[in-house]
Amino acid sequence: MLVTLARFLDPWEAYVVRARLDADGIPATVALANHAIADWPMSLALGGTLVQVPAGFLEQSRQILSDYDAGVLEDELNEVMDLQREHCPRCGSTDFKRTMRKRNRIYAILIILFFAIFPASRNRLICKNCGFSWNWGED
Ligand SMILES: [Zn+2]
Repeated sequence: MLVTLARFLDPWEAYVVRARLDADGIPATVALANHAIADWPMSLALGGTLVQVPAGFLEQSRQILSDYDAGVLEDELNEVMDLQREHCPRCGSTDFKRTMRKRNRIYAILIILFFAIFPASRNRLICKNCGFSWNWGED
């Protein structure tokens, strides 16, 4: 029996998590991704895109998802690529929250209201330590 491990608003992130689980031999599947691609607002109403695993793999999958959420996978990639983890350009803190530029929020609302297609977004990061904000990938 398949059980839902996680729900994602972004179907592509669900596929990333599924691939990561697959790398550890967990036969995960993605469900309802086609709703997000065909009609993103409808996908939101249905609860997003699901990553499901066989019930016997749930605990192992939760640990991998926890590592993914904590940035452990990003740290491993950065180490291999000799890159530094995303950090606040002012104080160097890696404790921040992701947000969206106000202009992009307005565009997303307009797109959802009038075009109902999947909105692309650029992340805006806010340091939880000092309050400084910057755009993802810019130092
Ligand atoms: Zn800072």
